Amino acid sequence: MIRTQLEADYTVGVVGAGTMGRGIAQVAAQAGFRVRLVDVKPGVAEQARDFVDKMLGRAVEKGKLQTDERAATMARIETASELAALAGSDLVIEAVIEDLELKQRIFADLEEICGADAVLVSNTSALPIAAIGARCARRERVAGMHFMNPVPLMKLVEVISTPFTAPEVVAVLLVLAERMNKTAIRVQDFPAFLAGNCARGFYTEALRFNQESLAPPAVIDRIVREAGGFRMGPFEVMDLVGLDVNYPASKSLFEAAFYDPRYRLTPQFRLLTEAGMLGRKTGAGFYRYDADGKAMIEPEAAVSAALPAAVWLWAHDSGARERLQALAATAGVEVAAAERPPAGILCLVAPLGEDASTTAARLGLDPAHTVAVDTLYGWDRLRTVMAPPGADQATVAAALALLGADGTAAVRINDSPGFIMPRLQANITNLACDLCQQGIAAPDDVDLGMRLGFNFPEGPLAAGDRLGSGVMLELVQALHEFYGDDRYRPSPWLRRRGVLGLALNTPERAPAAA
Ligand code: NAD
Repeated sequence: MIRTQLEADYTVGVVGAGTMGRGIAQVAAQAGFRVRLVDVKPGVAEQARDFVDKMLGRAVEKGKLQTDERAATMARIETASELAALAGSDLVIEAVIEDLELKQRIFADLEEICGADAVLVSNTSALPIAAIGARCARRERVAGMHFMNPVPLMKLVEVISTPFTAPEVVAVLLVLAERMNKTAIRVQDFPAFLAGNCARGFYTEALRFNQESLAPPAVIDRIVREAGGFRMGPFEVMDLVGLDVNYPASKSLFEAAFYDPRYRLTPQFRLLTEAGMLGRKTGAGFYRYDADGKAMIEPEAAVSAALPAAVWLWAHDSGARERLQALAATAGVEVAAAERPPAGILCLVAPLGEDASTTAARLGLDPAHTVAVDTLYGWDRLRTVMAPPGADQATVAAALALLGADGTAAVRINDSPGFIMPRLQANITNLACDLCQQGIAAPDDVDLGMRLGFNFPEGPLAAGDRLGSGVMLELVQALHEFYGDDRYRPSPWLRRRGVLGLALNTPERAPAAA
């Protein structure tokens, strides 16, 4: 029988004492479990144990841990260089290098070494758990437990079940994660699981911005940080993690998803990687770095222009129109009341999901004098502005002066259906909806996973609901129509909730009345 009571003699084996294994050993020992840490490379398990001791020593210095707790934690960690040392473990967490054949062999060996009731889990980032356990006779005890790096700091653990995994195995892993002071979410075995999969919405859409030359990476990152509230922009993150990590992981997910365009990468991304421009570690990636490792960013050209004499306004809804009107009033700029704009006047528009060119054409405006502004994101922090190709420079400069008249900064990008943030968020939310539709995780776990696993400021479903599921659907449909690219096909989950105006975390079936 799988052991479900986690008393003090509950023994956790950890295979692989690298970056992840040592962190897992630390949190398991701190949770009060006995830990056996195994690494084939002689001396590595001992080094890892010393490393944990040093980490706990720092915690003691900072007053976060008592000296006796440190000693008691260390006394619970044994090391070895042979898998045989794991005999009698209740649970083994595998954290060796990302190699399917090796992991399969280790799982088959563990099944021989450990008792019939030991739970066997892998910390793989992306390999299918069911494939790792394929050579095991008792596949019901095989599962995934995906910790994030650095393990002691990151709260999220994805508990992954395969079609074979027994419910009591999942139950025991959820309790175990909680005892390790982690927040666990339940996820189905799926390429890159939940967090790694949904995060592609963030990276791949940023790659599209880059491919379309909407703005330099520094401008896009600034919009994502300041208007979107993300801690870091997508290009900063890719350069920090390294393209040698992000590119192969993204490519293998694209292949695992049978080339679903939602996960499609760009030739520019591949080129940078193959050119060895891997980010911070090589001094160049999406950014170039100086000798001190600081990104060299060209300052945005300062635009100083007089306010326009008058402005003609159009907005997709009344809230957006009020924003534009209030701004014009603050700036003391007259708003033309005429239904049709007088010739030569600045036409300031606030579209939803449309680029400035399409809005100008649809409304019959002069494209040379049309400027669009994002009213969904960054209105109080950083405004995003765009204009049709060939727009009159003086008109754009006057629009920027008007948009900055209340002291709020504004940046210009090239024409884009959905600016930067609405488009990025719509893409992430649509992908999150599709993961819900496929039953990869429950809606609330999707939001929790992305907040804790990728530091998103809001879960993708909650972020969609803040604007409204109908607005999200409109944004995605507009992208789909503009590009004719299946990458932007609305998920059935989003489509149904959007047309009905339902919250995006509405489950398929309402829970039965108690
Ligand atoms: P790592 O290279 O730092 O450590 C792997 C360790 O496994 C090494 O010390 C190696 O000696 C040992 N090892 C190799 N073969 C072994 C064997 N047969 N038996 C015992 N030990 C063996 O790797 P890592 O970054 O800790 O990653 C480990 C796993 O965790 C991978 O599957 C990875 O995809 C996953 N993961 C990594 C991260 C991350 O950010 N590093 C995050 C989540 C998951």
